[in-house]
Amino acid sequence: MTANPDAAPAVANLDTIVSLAKRRGFVFPSSEIYGGINAVWDYGPLGVELKNNVKRAWWRAMVQERDDIVGLDAGILMHPQVWVTSGHVASFSDPLVECAENSHRFRLDELPGTESLTETDKRDPGIVERLNLKCPTDGSKLGPPRRFNLMFKTYMGPVEDDAAVIYMRPETAQGSYVNFKNVQQSTRKKLPFGIAQIGKSFRNEISPGNFVFRMREFEQMEMQYFVPPQDAARIFEEWLPRRWNWYTVYGVTEERLRFREHAPDELAHYAKKAIDVEYRFPFGWKELEGIHNRGDWDLSRHQKESGENLEYFDPVTNESFIPWIVETAGGPDRAAFTFLIDAYREEEVRGETRVSLALHPQLAPYKVAVLPLLKKRPEIVELCQKLVRDLRRDVMAVYDDTASIGKLYRRQDEIGTPWCVTVDVDSLEDGAVTVRDRDSMTQERVPVEGVKRLILDRLAASLPL
Ligand code: ATP
Repeated sequence: MTANPDAAPAVANLDTIVSLAKRRGFVFPSSEIYGGINAVWDYGPLGVELKNNVKRAWWRAMVQERDDIVGLDAGILMHPQVWVTSGHVASFSDPLVECAENSHRFRLDELPGTESLTETDKRDPGIVERLNLKCPTDGSKLGPPRRFNLMFKTYMGPVEDDAAVIYMRPETAQGSYVNFKNVQQSTRKKLPFGIAQIGKSFRNEISPGNFVFRMREFEQMEMQYFVPPQDAARIFEEWLPRRWNWYTVYGVTEERLRFREHAPDELAHYAKKAIDVEYRFPFGWKELEGIHNRGDWDLSRHQKESGENLEYFDPVTNESFIPWIVETAGGPDRAAFTFLIDAYREEEVRGETRVSLALHPQLAPYKVAVLPLLKKRPEIVELCQKLVRDLRRDVMAVYDDTASIGKLYRRQDEIGTPWCVTVDVDSLEDGAVTVRDRDSMTQERVPVEGVKRLILDRLAASLPL
């Protein structure tokens, strides 16, 4: 785990990725024909494959390959008391300042001149005057900071009154806490054990942006690990390399990762200790995933407010206690975005710029493309289609004959397809096809009946141990 504090981003300008994502169908602005909606993005045909592959890779590492972690899919809508108990109604907020002239609102800590604000500063009602902060759009006077709750509200049932208010969950974690007893009793798991979830969360972010990095509707991949209190500090440390390594084995450049510990006054209301895995995005070092020691905050609060006993009975020591929680909190949007940025390559090949995405084969949207060298020869097209039909039974495979072979290769390089299979005139004679590797661009002749085995073997070999 070596981080380089001066690491340059993989891509200097974020627009390179945003335009590739739109052009090739990874990510589109939501509701674009109506002018778009701020901070919501839609995943296109390739984006949905990439994001699903990221979720699958996480689920494999966190649930499928472990004895001690099980999955859950809790509802987005929960009893509103959950969010009172968890502290979100009272304190899930950002400091917001409003321009006296144009009524634009800004997050206090994102105004120019606030780079080194502490959390105590952010709560200081006189901070705007003290630092002489001005509206970044027109230099006018700004009002004092106010707390702005980030939870979206809606109504449940036919009557839109206060009693019917409910929240769109801002994190998946609470679904795991309120189900702690259900999961523990139904699975008979002993401590330490974890509950993993992937699902949508919603936050009314004041200043969203940087493409899919900060959205108002997004997905999270969170795991809550329930532990004996005396083991929490050690287990917290054990999760740090595990989560770091998950990113590097799937291709993120180690030098563009670092750990950052939260200062005591920066810790969320529930946290005893928090360390972020940060990535060097084109817009700076930012959180990719947070690892949190939440103590017994969540379960003891839910026990008190619900009246349900949420203690764990330890059959070895004959003691009952409230478990502590170590949480790993990441998201497939930020992770897929990171994999996309980090995989971006530009190189000169025979006087032309070749753009490729060196995505890990497990994450690539298509594993293989089948391409005819001559689409005018029906026997070649027929052989291609037979091959692609066979490959599709096991992997995402695509057939394309809409350009010359050079162009077809470039297209597949640009969307990260690890292998291309080309069928040519000789194939009709010798029953062999050409398999081309995306990264090395080397080509090898393989008997057509051995192609699927070759692709499946390489995919299996690419799985992290
Ligand atoms: P930040 O400091 O960036 O606002 P946070 O500390 O509030 O993030 P957590 O509450 O730890 O974030 O959320 C866990 C994970 O959920 C984040 O690491 C990120 O992957 C994802 N996530 C949180 N907010 C957003 C968002 N607005 N858009 C996309 N992903 C998000």
